Amino acid sequence: ETFLKTTDSEIFQAIEAERERQEAHIELIASENYASKAVMAAQGSVLTNKYAEGYPGKRYYGGCEHVDVVESLAIDRARALFNAEYANVQPHSGSQANAAVYMALLKPGDTFLGLSLDHGGHLTHGAKPNFSGRIYNAVQYGLNEQTGEVDYGEVERLALEHQPKMIVAGFSAYSQVMDWARFRQIADRVGAYLFVDMAHVAGLVAAGLYPNPVPIADVVTTTTHKTLRGPRGGLILSRDAEGLGKKFNSLIFPGIQGGPLTQVIAAKAVAFREALSPDFSAYQQRVIANAKAMASVLMARGFDIVSGGTENHLMLIDLSKRGFTGKAADAALGAANITVNKNTVPNDPQSPFVTSGVRIGTPAITSRGMGTAEAELLATWICDILENLDESEKLQAEQDRIRVAVKALCARFPVYGSCGE
Ligand code: PLP
Repeated sequence: ETFLKTTDSEIFQAIEAERERQEAHIELIASENYASKAVMAAQGSVLTNKYAEGYPGKRYYGGCEHVDVVESLAIDRARALFNAEYANVQPHSGSQANAAVYMALLKPGDTFLGLSLDHGGHLTHGAKPNFSGRIYNAVQYGLNEQTGEVDYGEVERLALEHQPKMIVAGFSAYSQVMDWARFRQIADRVGAYLFVDMAHVAGLVAAGLYPNPVPIADVVTTTTHKTLRGPRGGLILSRDAEGLGKKFNSLIFPGIQGGPLTQVIAAKAVAFREALSPDFSAYQQRVIANAKAMASVLMARGFDIVSGGTENHLMLIDLSKRGFTGKAADAALGAANITVNKNTVPNDPQSPFVTSGVRIGTPAITSRGMGTAEAELLATWICDILENLDESEKLQAEQDRIRVAVKALCARFPVYGSCGE
């Protein structure tokens, strides 16, 4: 780092500014987390210099004996963590992992079912501007208005009507437990593949606190940087190492990627090892406890939470009845050093750039050591700001008061404290 300071001060300063931002802001973006120093050390290593097209033992380049060790460890640890026969640790991102699955199992124009973006699905689950909605015939399901849960009846109806080749389960903004087995039953009724994208809850799954889809689905993908707390990247898992596993391998390389990011694969291996430890389960329990604590305060103060609460690490505040936009809420909280993201809510009247909701999640605050007392305090501050969105003077006063309090709270819980975490 000192070296970077002298060789490229512009980049050094921008990184320093980002480090300070991360320390002095409350991070409530549900898809973000703080990777350990060990994960970052692996990622910033000489492995970045190495080409290693192919897979361990079958490379297209010489000198791969050490990266083979790295990738094999990453694969073994991923398999152990999620009880999978097959793992591919090469996807550069969650979207790349998903693209490989689509290409392996579908042909252009084939039909699949996925959760729509405004009901909590990801872009890669069939949204119009994404490859998944452009190349394939994406039929979208949503949440049941009464229960706020996935409308399994609708999924079944759509499956029988459209006879999809694949059903995609999983989400980016859903606060309940998805019933993987129910999806399996529906997929089996129409002979479809079941593909679960567990990107958001992979850390909870690893800790045994959320149902593991690997034994149920044909294929499971995840990112490695959300609740799982590893480097930015993707992962594909399956029970079927021979048939499907071989297809996924050849779709990642040479299908859609060239050389793997071996430094990221090393960092994934480090994160998987961390996730195999008992400390990690305790951490994930605190993530859920903190989310429930925040949801309770928000609901007690009269805010609508989509699905009526949370059973995982995130929740979605629906501001539509109050007539506020997610964009305004996001900006107002940001001015008080509280980072969230605007998010569409079911049947959102606003565009995805404006939205009527905000998504909040607890993985990052929990990684810096905060517990339920801090989570409740944060939720109180969020209410204090959101209740004054249309009174600019009062809002400003609240933002000024809370920004000071947020900074003081952050100073008590350093992200990268002296303990080396
Ligand atoms: N799948 C889900 C469910 C996600 O929430 C995300 C990211 O937000 C992705 C896939 C895509 O991951 P990436 O941003 O690494 O492409």
